[in-house]
Amino acid sequence: MSGLYSWSRFSGRTLAAAAGVEGRPTKLIFVVTKRCHSRCEYCDIWKLKDTPGALDNELTLEEVRSVATANPFLQWIDFTGGEPTDRPDFAEVVETFSTACPDLLLVHFPTNGIATKRIAGLVERLHASVRARLIVTVSIDGPPEINDRLRGIRNDFAHAVATFAAVRRLIGEENVFVGMTLHGHTASCGRSTSALAEDTFAAVNAALGELNEAPINWGAFHVNIPHLSQHYYGNSASESKDGFGGSAHRAEIADALRSVASHTKSCGGTAMRVIEHVYRAEAMRYLSTGRTSIRCSALLATAYLSEKGEVYPCTIWDKPLGNVRTTGYALMPIIEAARRDGVRKAVAEARCPNCWTPCEAYPAIAASPLRSALALVSSS
Ligand code: SF4
Ligand code: SF4
Repeated sequence: MSGLYSWSRFSGRTLAAAAGVEGRPTKLIFVVTKRCHSRCEYCDIWKLKDTPGALDNELTLEEVRSVATANPFLQWIDFTGGEPTDRPDFAEVVETFSTACPDLLLVHFPTNGIATKRIAGLVERLHASVRARLIVTVSIDGPPEINDRLRGIRNDFAHAVATFAAVRRLIGEENVFVGMTLHGHTASCGRSTSALAEDTFAAVNAALGELNEAPINWGAFHVNIPHLSQHYYGNSASESKDGFGGSAHRAEIADALRSVASHTKSCGGTAMRVIEHVYRAEAMRYLSTGRTSIRCSALLATAYLSEKGEVYPCTIWDKPLGNVRTTGYALMPIIEAARRDGVRKAVAEARCPNCWTPCEAYPAIAASPLRSALALVSSS
């Protein structure tokens, strides 16, 4: 999206979708592969490559073409993983949707940033070939030593910063972000999550300085709260990996959100920054009460498609709804059946895991302008 105009086009249809007026979702989260060369402490996706058969049966490029053709109404697609760029035909996958979806406004993918040259090459190609706005988030979870330990890769931090810089040169500072997940870190890292966010921001800028690159401001530093998901991260089996780990951690993560929010006030008011502000305000509410004032729009405005063609309500809820291989690759028969079966009603009544993941939160914010405005006012 290129600013407020594109955001208003997206939010208009998303609002209609969430209200049940427009029957089709606007946003798809598509897991293009579960391959990943990171070794993150809090996610088990990378272990799948050591599990016989676990990475088999991905949708082929031909099948991806069929998915794109059967669902041309999408406006926003998150191509995620695993590490999405570890899929050898990742560029073709994205380009396929760009061609088949005439109203596509936003393409986003997160990356671990390990393979700088390959990722930069992909971004350069997609920037030239895709009509929609391309946004990339490079994951960094701490200053060098902590990040590298949490993500299990030597020099991961240095690679990620180099990738951030390379991608920023290609698509501009408004389209690339550092993405940090705020785990409750005091016990394992000896400092508060809030201090860790500050240290990470400072370390990114120190590393950019060493590369003779311009610093970032807080507007380029995205934070999100952790979640568990068995079907996606494969991380809900272990209590020790609960990203919240009790009320002390919740308070600690909320402090970090508050601290980041105070920094971003001076960074200007783009549509994305306003959404992030609402996201953080509602995340704080969620951490203290277990609820948000903004209703999730899963199965109205959004849907999730796995690398094997399975449709779920979202990244979090381990509730398979059907496989696009049985519907000619169309999402709507599966989504409509789920609505008839009361799955959407369960979301509306918070009888799902009831999370506040940014994948779903951003469209939900778009679909709730009044509640978002109230969240903004009450947090300022
Ligand atoms: S969090 Fe992302 S980068 Fe880390 S192991 Fe999971 S998929 Fe890979
Ligand atoms: S609230 Fe969370 S768990 Fe429930 S449907 Fe929405 S995204 Fe999924």
